[in-house]
Amino acid sequence: MYYNEESVIFYNGKFIKAAKSVESPYSQSLHYGNGVFEGIRAYNTSNGTQIFKAIEHYNRLKYGAEVMNIEFNYTAEELAKITYELLERNGLKDAYVRPLITTGADMSLLTSNKSNLLIQCWEWGKYMGDELLRVKTSSFQRPNPKSCFVEAKVTGHYVNSILSTNEAKKEGYDEALLLDMNGNVAECSGANIFMEKDGKLYTPPRGHIMAGITRSTIIDLCKEVGISVEEKHFTLEELKKADACFFTGTAAEVVGLQSLDTYQFPLS
Ligand code: PMP
Repeated sequence: MYYNEESVIFYNGKFIKAAKSVESPYSQSLHYGNGVFEGIRAYNTSNGTQIFKAIEHYNRLKYGAEVMNIEFNYTAEELAKITYELLERNGLKDAYVRPLITTGADMSLLTSNKSNLLIQCWEWGKYMGDELLRVKTSSFQRPNPKSCFVEAKVTGHYVNSILSTNEAKKEGYDEALLLDMNGNVAECSGANIFMEKDGKLYTPPRGHIMAGITRSTIIDLCKEVGISVEEKHFTLEELKKADACFFTGTAAEVVGLQSLDTYQFPLS
């Protein structure tokens, strides 16, 4: 699904066949989840293929590498250029792009002084589909911000997302909503949340969430068109009195919620 014999990836400075990529079996990323990644989309527009917010995404990747002490020497601009070439080599216009920095072979718990950069791309529809979602409040919380860098897209953090998604799907729901360590609404497994109440939008502030690039785009767009949007903490009880609710993220794009546990959003 993600690649075939012809697919090309960018690996450590070269464009190579995806099928030929070699990662060390002793990679810290494989054993300990120490790596950082991004999720980016490119769209086929009337001005040709355009990568949405490429610089913002690659700056977030760079930030992640910095706080995790992972060696990384590219600029966001270089990576954007490489990504356009990669899309062209794969003949893709509408695509999802997955840059990943893995850490080298080192079985100690000190960050390896070697790293690898891979960039892959493939065609991927809206990750959560087009239908309104039936969401379950997860029994798992988002990580404590004092246990990790919550705004860095560290590969290991996604075990929390996998646990909550598995739980929700097993119980017949489409997605999981996670609270933070203080019991406030945080975000879903891979997207941010907005709720609508009395014509106003609310979204949790930064601190316990991924600072989503789609989230900040929505905030900017709301400001432009005069929709009131406030970043503030809210509880599950408040969310279950909301008129409507939606998730935002690169893979999911913007997707509405039909229900949360037994609560039906009335304006959905
Ligand atoms: N929260 C989490 C946990 C995510 O993994 C993502 C996807 N990066 C988001 C929110 C949304 O971020 P963005 O809009 O930048 O894709």
